[in-house]
Amino acid sequence: MKINIIGGGPAGLYFAILMKKQYAGLRITVFERNAPDDTFGWGVVFSDKTLSYLKDNDEETHREITDSFEMWDNVDVVHRDQKITIRGNKFSGIARLRLLQILQRRCQSLGVHLHFRTEINDVDVERFRRCNLLVGADGINSATRLRYSRHFKPSLSVRTNKYIWYGTRQLFHGLTLTFHETDAGVFAAHSYKFNKEMSTFIVECDAETWKRARFAEMSDEATRAYLENVFGKDLHGHKLLSNNSKWINFVNVRNERWSYDNVVLLGDALHTAHFSIGSGTKLALEDSIALSNCFKTTSNVREALEEFERVRKPVIEEYQEAAYESLLWFENVKDYMSLSPLPFAYKLMTRSKRIDYENLKRRDPQFIAAYEQSGS
Ligand SMILES: Cc1cc2nc3c(=O)[nH]c(=O)nc-3n(C[C@H](O)[C@H](O)[C@H](O)COP(=O)(O)OP(=O)(O)OC[C@H]3O[C@@H](n4cnc5c(N)ncnc54)[C@H](O)[C@@H]3O)c2cc1C
Repeated sequence: MKINIIGGGPAGLYFAILMKKQYAGLRITVFERNAPDDTFGWGVVFSDKTLSYLKDNDEETHREITDSFEMWDNVDVVHRDQKITIRGNKFSGIARLRLLQILQRRCQSLGVHLHFRTEINDVDVERFRRCNLLVGADGINSATRLRYSRHFKPSLSVRTNKYIWYGTRQLFHGLTLTFHETDAGVFAAHSYKFNKEMSTFIVECDAETWKRARFAEMSDEATRAYLENVFGKDLHGHKLLSNNSKWINFVNVRNERWSYDNVVLLGDALHTAHFSIGSGTKLALEDSIALSNCFKTTSNVREALEEFERVRKPVIEEYQEAAYESLLWFENVKDYMSLSPLPFAYKLMTRSKRIDYENLKRRDPQFIAAYEQSGS
């Protein structure tokens, strides 16, 4: 059996690993447009649950990932310069580049063929289609999805908020959500450390705030200087570091059908979930586990792809629903800014409706006691 994978991100690489472990005789090739050490992105986060899935599915990568990651159990909400800590939320962070290098090495040791610096603009050619399974793991702007859009029937909804990914040497211990009201409007930062020296720092604001701040006319340097001023107290003098960072709009990706013939989509190519609820990396890795599991009971590609859609789609839909509630909260954050810090933090923690009062009380009784004492 021959498998071609377009895209060497977390989804494509991890799927290659799991399939090669399952069937050593498979010929698996990954085509990736970037070089192995291109540094796109800063840190990515995993929940505890994702880590346990990784352990169950490939101990080697799990061991390497957990050797290099940073763990925390607190969400810190900073509003009106007051920090409210909510415990009981176990997450870990790792540099995206480090994760990719671990997965690349594991692929190589198992005998997966990796072709870097190879951009595939049309997958519908003999060279790629002549295989038993073609995987489109080519990210949010997937050329595979576009080529077969008539079959996948994707819907892409571009949201109005703007966001930008930065790194910083200021270490945020725990997922830190910081809010500041300025003359231009409200800015939110999502930050967490992902190794001993660096944190991810994502800034988000609504379209009106973005226009009033005049970011369209600003250089990269001027944009960073502006945001370093907004978040001056939080960054403690540290700079925001750009990595080809650009303002973008979040795009909600869904596909009506997940496969066509012997072609299947994975990870961001298949679906996205707003970054405020957990990283796309977690979903990408869990997709790979789900799809490889479908090949445990059958070697018939069509059957396995149908089973993948049947089993995984409801899980993703539930996740996307919660992520949608979360993104709406961030889009409307100016409506909550009049709340004092404790009720603000409570509203934020319960925004996706997956966590409620009882759940929070179990996670962090001290936080709930303080919230109740505040008279909210
Ligand atoms: C630039 C960037 C920065 C990011 N930064 C972060 C971050 O800091 N933290 C975080 O949590 N999440 C980040 N994300 C989101 C997160 O990485 C994704 O949700 C997650 O990686 C999804 O995994 P994936 O394998 O499905 O897609 P991706 O990680 O996007 O991988 C897709 C791969 O396919 C390759 N590719 C695309 N088109 C082609 C083509 N035509 N031919 C060959 N190869 C192709 C791409 O180069 C890429 O390596 C970032 C995403 C991007 C694109």
